Amino acid sequence: MADIVLTTLNAKYIHAAFGLRYLLANLGELQSRSCLVEFDINQRPLDIAEVLLARNPKIIGFGVYIWNVEPTAEIIAAIKRVRPDIKIILGGPEVSYETEEQKIVQLADHVITGEADLRFAEVCRVLLESRAGTPLPAEAAVREDRRAEDCAPYQLPKIIPAELPDFSQIILPYDLYTDDDIAHRIIYVEASRGCPFTCEFCLSSLDIPVRQVPLPALFEQLQRLLDRGVKQFKFVDRTFNLNVDISKTILEFFLESYQPGHFFHFEMIPDRLPESLREIIAKFPPGALQFEVGVQTFNEEVSHLISRRQNYDKLADNFRFLRNQTGVHIHADLIVGLPGETLESFAAGFDRLIALGPQEIQVGILKRLRGTPIVRHDAEWQMVYNPHPPYEILQNKLIDFAMMQRLRRFARYWDLVGNSGTFVETTPLIWNNVAQASRLPRNPEQGKEAGATPALHSPFHGFLRFSDWLHARTGRTDSIALVRLMELLFEYLTGELRLDPKQVAETLWRDYQRGGRHDKPNFLKEFLPTEETVIPLRKTKPALPKRQARHLV
Ligand code: SF4
Repeated sequence: MADIVLTTLNAKYIHAAFGLRYLLANLGELQSRSCLVEFDINQRPLDIAEVLLARNPKIIGFGVYIWNVEPTAEIIAAIKRVRPDIKIILGGPEVSYETEEQKIVQLADHVITGEADLRFAEVCRVLLESRAGTPLPAEAAVREDRRAEDCAPYQLPKIIPAELPDFSQIILPYDLYTDDDIAHRIIYVEASRGCPFTCEFCLSSLDIPVRQVPLPALFEQLQRLLDRGVKQFKFVDRTFNLNVDISKTILEFFLESYQPGHFFHFEMIPDRLPESLREIIAKFPPGALQFEVGVQTFNEEVSHLISRRQNYDKLADNFRFLRNQTGVHIHADLIVGLPGETLESFAAGFDRLIALGPQEIQVGILKRLRGTPIVRHDAEWQMVYNPHPPYEILQNKLIDFAMMQRLRRFARYWDLVGNSGTFVETTPLIWNNVAQASRLPRNPEQGKEAGATPALHSPFHGFLRFSDWLHARTGRTDSIALVRLMELLFEYLTGELRLDPKQVAETLWRDYQRGGRHDKPNFLKEFLPTEETVIPLRKTKPALPKRQARHLV
């Protein structure tokens, strides 16, 4: 039982709700009357409602995000019908903007917009004190067209903006990671909030100014986490290397306490790696650092249109440094569907990024996040977005719906094949065989929409051809078992691209063993010698995330 239940539906079980831990840590005297209950989006809404109601709370605070807004609305609707007296408070980026048009907001009693670390406790205090004498009538509580006056006895408006909290007043939440969290979940940390840049598709562009967590307090918490056995830290700072001195100090802290198996993830801006930062980065062992680097587009006109500043020469130089002189795992982001981006300019950007050699390229489909200024391009670039979360673009003036669907599948298959680390050697065969590929009849759909003739040696066009073939062959983009995917790759490379079956089989077999497997798939047996050598695997650091470890071998 708890008077206040903090809850959310995480995208995956291994994700821990960082924001809710902040709220719980800052509840003051109410913390002992509160609890945190986490779910994931694969659980059924009614089952979740049942668990929450069993706690018999007076207040439930929901963390609402793009990935959980629809099931969360379903849970709240059920709770409000069964227990209309329970106060529902929403918070999170999904309900911090455009509140008036959201169904979930209509269902809730209050919404705290912005950073609610301190405001949530204040709202709970008011609600718990005023509840004693003035319960909201049940019939008023369930009405979706509830008027502001209905909430009057509670002395709180429905939409409650939170002022930006000062980090010096916030209690850091790291002690709330349980031993179970440490054993099974990603441990999120942050050294700063906000971003000074203005990329129009990004919610963080609204999050100004940048605020730093006081370093002594942060280091004390990080040391405690290290002492408790945390090996993997994921920093959620939007621009970790914005302040070079601070990021260097944090990296030095981790380097001093480094032990095999440690892994640190940071989001970096790609064109800022001065020498002092490079020096410390280069000292980390291979696989210990992962940088998520947003490139988004290589088209300078598009960058300008979306108010994104980026120095492409520095970016390329930094990528080369990271790949040639460090063991950093680079996860780079590109976005499909930005205003002004043609198929050909996206293809050229993808190929340029491939040449820079990041281990992973996340091909993201543009999302229209609530509150972001990207909407100013809607009319001119005929931007059409899916009205349902995650609000991905369906088509625009330059890329029609059919082509966008092909790119969506490209992104999914690229993740399975290119990013997974499972086909490190095999993937380039998809586009590196110009001679064979040029003999093939061109996919009649390919490049037609943009009026372009695809370059056959282009990684983008080579992979798009494979993606089209794979979809025609399977009709699906998920639930393709690993060995089946290998078999399909073999079929494509030998049948469609007419590569030597023995060469392809050996490459696939090496990739397969790279993942630590030694059970030879049946379809490969006839192409491999019976006395084959098991490839000697370089020992990877124990306990690195699997995907990164595969790229490292
Ligand atoms: S995309 Fe990155 S740099 Fe641009 S506003 Fe968002 S967080 Fe900042």
